[in-house]
Amino acid sequence: MPDTAAATLLIDGHWRSAPATFDVVDPASLDVLGQASDAEPADALAALDAASAAARGWADTDAETRSGHLRAAAAEIRARQGELASLLSRENGKPLAEAAGELAGGARMLEWAAEEGRRAYGRVTPASAAGPGLVLRSPVGPVLAITPWNFPASMLLRKVGLALAAGCPVIAKPAEQTPLIATALLGIVQATGLPAGVLQSLTTTRPAELVGALLADRRLRKVSFTGSTEVGLGLLRQTGDTLRRTSLEMGGHSPAIVFADADLEAAATGVVTAKFFNAGQSCTAVNRLYVHESVRDDLLALIEKKTAALRLGRGDVEGTKVGPLIDEAGLAKVENQVADAVAKGARILVGGSRWESGDPALRGHFFEPTVLTGVTADMLVSHEETFGPVLAVATFTGDDEAIDLANATDYGLAAYLFGSDLRRVWRALDRLDFGVIGVNDPAPVRPELPFGGQKNSGQEREGGAEGIESYTETKAVALRF
Ligand code: ADP
Repeated sequence: MPDTAAATLLIDGHWRSAPATFDVVDPASLDVLGQASDAEPADALAALDAASAAARGWADTDAETRSGHLRAAAAEIRARQGELASLLSRENGKPLAEAAGELAGGARMLEWAAEEGRRAYGRVTPASAAGPGLVLRSPVGPVLAITPWNFPASMLLRKVGLALAAGCPVIAKPAEQTPLIATALLGIVQATGLPAGVLQSLTTTRPAELVGALLADRRLRKVSFTGSTEVGLGLLRQTGDTLRRTSLEMGGHSPAIVFADADLEAAATGVVTAKFFNAGQSCTAVNRLYVHESVRDDLLALIEKKTAALRLGRGDVEGTKVGPLIDEAGLAKVENQVADAVAKGARILVGGSRWESGDPALRGHFFEPTVLTGVTADMLVSHEETFGPVLAVATFTGDDEAIDLANATDYGLAAYLFGSDLRRVWRALDRLDFGVIGVNDPAPVRPELPFGGQKNSGQEREGGAEGIESYTETKAVALRF
């Protein structure tokens, strides 16, 4: 762990500070929580020097040893879950229970990566006249892991775990809003005794400059990015004349379809969970709900009741279900979408406004959990990612109509189905253009499953067997005896 508060740069096995620091703000109170070092492009290149120097040695380290580091880090995160959850909740604003769940999920990701790293098998092909063939897998080399503030623990641990398990050194670039939890977690991973250069971390307010400097260097062999579609597409454009592996996990605009035969109580709970988790600031959050017209009124009555019961407040106060949005820009976007929808004929069933707590210690950017009905395709909320606590509801009559409505988006990350007729669900699974689908399950992210999106939501997958694969190169070997 770094021993001074702002020593948040990890380069070549040492924690150090930069001449400049930046404040980290508690999004509920807007108080300053701490400081992080503001890395410069020269630090990024020093990190890449160290990662490049460490690459051969880490690739040669046996998979069991690499896995051991990850298992030890997971155990430490579990042991310190309470303290880490409190830091995560204060820095990001999410409820403590969600923070604890995210950390447990991050530990499970590390464990999964540790297990999969030992099973990154190749293949032997049947002999031709000349001899057999081999398919070998080797680590891609130094990886840049760019992670967001909305799940600052699990996104970071998933990338770092998979990369280290595959034998790749990592340069982590955590989001500037949440550098403290990232530093605490990477401190735990480093403290398992990783060799110098295997893990780097760069906290900075100048991501474009630092990342630009790294992308211009051919020694960087992979970028794994989770964040906005705009920035992700920009990274692809910046690749220039150096081809490298690029995993992108970007925005979403998730539909939920509730069929007439759904268990309505479970569907209402599922939709409310998948919508308001992390105050709606999740790329898998339900944005649009399509409900069969025959069950619309019953479902909406349940959703209204459950939404109105969600308590707003500081994430670290017992009972809080919805915390603040990360910043004013996030809040303004939500407000704009609601105003646009209402101007075009939507009705506010519940919520609809900024939340003023009346408490001078809660100066953050809160928005009431909101449900809009009568939503139509021309409204911003129907196609622009909301990233806030607003659920947009419309009805459908035929199953194929629901699927067409669900697919009518440039995004393709997550979709949710609620229903009990297996044939109907299977037909929808076949036709939906989404990378992750929850069937009666509002939390479809599991280490065992590949996570990632279609269309403008991303490319490549993290998790599942595909997760390790995306950090390895394939070599075909033809043997002649
Ligand atoms: P969000 O809108 O959710 O904050 P961003 O895409 O802006 O998502 O941020 C996700 C991650 O990408 C963060 O780590 C951030 O620092 C980084 N980032 C932001 N802008 C750039 C950029 N131009 N180049 C590289 N990384 C960036």
